[in-house]
Amino acid sequence: MQYHTPFEQLSDQRPSPLRSDPEKVLRDVFGYEAFRPLQGDIIAEVVAGRDALVLMPTGGGKSLCYQVPALVRPGTAIVISPLIALMQDQVAALEELGVKAAFLNSTMDFEQARATEQALLTGELDLLYCAPERLTQPRTLDLLHKATLSLFAIDEAHCVSQWGHDFRSDYLQLGLLAEEFPDVPRIALTATADERTRTEIAERLSLNEARHFVSGFDRPNIQYRITAKTNANKQLLDFIKAEHEGDCGIVYCLSRNKVEATARLLTDQGFTALPYHAGLSPEDRAHHQDRFLREDGIIIVATIAFGMGIDKPDVRFVAHLDLPKSLEAYYQETGRAGRDGKPSTAWMVYGLQDVIKLRQMLEASQGNDHFKRVERQKLDAMLGLCEVTKCRRQVLLSYFGDQLEEPCGNCDTCLTPPETWDGTVAVQKALSCVYRTGQRYGVTYLIDVLRGSDNERLRQSGHHAISTFGIGTDLSANDWKSVFRQLVANGFLRADPEGFGSLQLTEQCRPLLKGEQAIRLRKDPVLKKVRYRAASSRRSAALDSISDQTGWEALRACRKSLAEQQGVPPYVIFHD
Ligand code: ADP
Ligand code: MG
Repeated sequence: MQYHTPFEQLSDQRPSPLRSDPEKVLRDVFGYEAFRPLQGDIIAEVVAGRDALVLMPTGGGKSLCYQVPALVRPGTAIVISPLIALMQDQVAALEELGVKAAFLNSTMDFEQARATEQALLTGELDLLYCAPERLTQPRTLDLLHKATLSLFAIDEAHCVSQWGHDFRSDYLQLGLLAEEFPDVPRIALTATADERTRTEIAERLSLNEARHFVSGFDRPNIQYRITAKTNANKQLLDFIKAEHEGDCGIVYCLSRNKVEATARLLTDQGFTALPYHAGLSPEDRAHHQDRFLREDGIIIVATIAFGMGIDKPDVRFVAHLDLPKSLEAYYQETGRAGRDGKPSTAWMVYGLQDVIKLRQMLEASQGNDHFKRVERQKLDAMLGLCEVTKCRRQVLLSYFGDQLEEPCGNCDTCLTPPETWDGTVAVQKALSCVYRTGQRYGVTYLIDVLRGSDNERLRQSGHHAISTFGIGTDLSANDWKSVFRQLVANGFLRADPEGFGSLQLTEQCRPLLKGEQAIRLRKDPVLKKVRYRAASSRRSAALDSISDQTGWEALRACRKSLAEQQGVPPYVIFHD
């Protein structure tokens, strides 16, 4: 059987076993550092050649569930997708990552289709996207029988259900894949989660043996808490002594030195704490991991190198002394707590220096501009979680496309609501500005419009003449950054999926823009700290050396007064 991955095409080297590791594909090809909830399990299932039925909220990350196995398994993956536009977008995105992908649909002329078919037969393609009506044509089936196939992915699988509103008769034909290709694993994916649709999908696609992966992302037994960093060591000791004396836990730090120092600190205080990082010998690492798994009450102090594939059920707390790079990483790391379903704590201290450090690492990293832009957005979303005023669990889950109806009542923001200000009018202005400029611009530009900045780019776009120009002079640029970041964090705005940084409105905005909903924004306690630091003579040189691209400098600057919000008319932009 022919074996090919994008690495070989790029590097011209023989495939090594490591290259077929899903984690490595995730990092090296897609540039993500951690799997989202369930992705790892689903991918393992499909890589092993078994069928799967995946129900995951929109935005949850279903595509990777077949794209990663497509690169790990030999042969070409056939992806059935109902919308031509979707197909083209995905193929373009994959090509940009260096993955060999193509599509077959009705927009192509004979020559193009021929070339693609040829590429399939010669095994050049990692993925081939195909419209359902095309796939079930005898000519295509014949072709598929001659090719080496890694898997079938049936995206938007609810289209096969007559209960659903998206029923597509072409999808019904896909049942034949089970008979025609009994040895090729099939994965069906949908965001439509109700039981009836799920059963119908499994029946019509003959997914009799398939394991069902149903993800809501909520981990109700984990309590989420994020506190401003004052004296991290003392805070950590207080936390463990007060709540988790004798419990098993994980403490995450960013650097090896800090891991060592923290492990010593805990040991000095009578805890059994073991360090774990890439600088230790493989023997030491294995030994520490082994003790953590077998003994009671061990605290492992680790860099993010620790935890992949660790399945210890009774981890009672996960503490972060440094900010993770993204919500995916935060979710994954905190998710190692409480697998047994018993109450557990995800505790974190967070300070300005963390943001600076991560930002520096990001800027110094090898990635191209696109990669860095995406990373900055991820870091901003992580900051967003730190800054929220509403339920942290709701914010975390909504990032993964999962809605929690009621505030959880158990996270720190639910238990001790933070200080806030009435941001209703500011938010209406911000959202109107996004709308009036066509949902095509990033934060910096939007703030220029709001604050009525006089610059060339604005004049060229004609945006100095629109109604939202200059309506935001009452807040500083940094205040606006904080407003926008909280809007993203709370799901009112979303960053474009391509990672160009432009902000788009979500459905959730409506009531805000119609003046039907008020919103309170967080006064971040960290800001007070920052003011102190900025005045300090020992202020870090790092502060000056980093450009102000992302939201973190909002943390750095002193805020102007946020009073005088009364009396401004709401900016209503939606008309039904
Ligand atoms: P779905 O099909 O479930 O609606 P997508 O597959 O389109 O979701 O993914 C939604 C977004 O999440 C995409 O921008 C994707 O790049 C991102 N994403 C998916 N998995 C991960 C991950 N493990 N880490 C970071 N981002 C991810
Ligand atoms: Mg999708």
